[in-house]
Amino acid sequence: MILPSLTDLEHNSEPLVLTNIADPIPLDHEILIKVSACGVCHTELDEIEGRTPPSHFPVIPGHQVIGSVEAAGKNVKDLKKGDRVGVAWIFSSCGRCKYCLEGYENLCPEFKATGRDANGGYAEYMTVPGSFTYKIPEIFKDSQAAPLLCAGAVGYRSVNLAGIRNGHNIGLTGFGASGHLVLQIIKYKYPDSKIFVFARSESERAFALEMGASWVGDTTDTVPELLDSIIDTTPVWKTVVEALKNIKPGGRLVINAIRKEDADKDYLLQIDYSRHLWMEKEIKSVANVTRWDVKEFLDIASEIPIIPEVQEYKLEEANIALRELKKGKIRGAKVLVIR
Ligand SMILES: [Zn+2]
Ligand SMILES: [Zn+2]
Repeated sequence: MILPSLTDLEHNSEPLVLTNIADPIPLDHEILIKVSACGVCHTELDEIEGRTPPSHFPVIPGHQVIGSVEAAGKNVKDLKKGDRVGVAWIFSSCGRCKYCLEGYENLCPEFKATGRDANGGYAEYMTVPGSFTYKIPEIFKDSQAAPLLCAGAVGYRSVNLAGIRNGHNIGLTGFGASGHLVLQIIKYKYPDSKIFVFARSESERAFALEMGASWVGDTTDTVPELLDSIIDTTPVWKTVVEALKNIKPGGRLVINAIRKEDADKDYLLQIDYSRHLWMEKEIKSVANVTRWDVKEFLDIASEIPIIPEVQEYKLEEANIALRELKKGKIRGAKVLVIR
């Protein structure tokens, strides 16, 4: 399923085109994967509509890929035909720059994203550097493993960036797909921590309590005790200002959102230096993922275990899945299953 150019799902209900192309040939450091499942992510909408535009066209989207090794380049020693592997958002990085050498390959200036800067998994076959693939724990079926490769891995990174210690009070703003994965990771890694969930909708708050949150409230509420860190997964600014008032001196707000929208930017004018920022409060964003985030998260997800609820589509139904995602019709994670 190829994206020929930027378009708008409002006016074009078929942004991707089913096309026959020659099977890709792996380079010496790459493997050829026979794709069996590929998750459908909001980021695909951003790629199609130009908010995070692909670096070339046409491009095959998809960055939550599960499949089996079909062939390996001559420099790939640790993978063989038939091995089950996964591919995530990080397709490659340079391996030589300061960021790559210090464990921040997610910040590499040559960071390439799967399905945006290189062809991804909305296809029967794809190639990828062998060292940028993951072994998938046995417990997961292919379609269940696919959605873990994006939201889960990024959520795991945000938990690490929050600098949590067991017993800390942790806040989560927004309780969508990412928030509820993050809650499960925190409960597992930091069992003595209390989790405070801020969400606008009553049903999200009820769900958070069911999942084990200690406290729930609206995004403007004040918590009964101050928090060590808060992870914000919303696209708005109001939550940033409101979160800062609930953070302890020296605490941190981690923003796990690809972008913040401009609609309520004026809310930032309500920032009061002494109330919201004074006393060494920090704000930090989360960008991309590293291979360690993906690996560690897959292990944790299999131990907890986190088994995603999935809704399966055929490869040629990718446009339907994307349209439903755009309209907010979400019943479990959407996954293309390729046979
Ligand atoms: Zn994604
Ligand atoms: Zn680099």
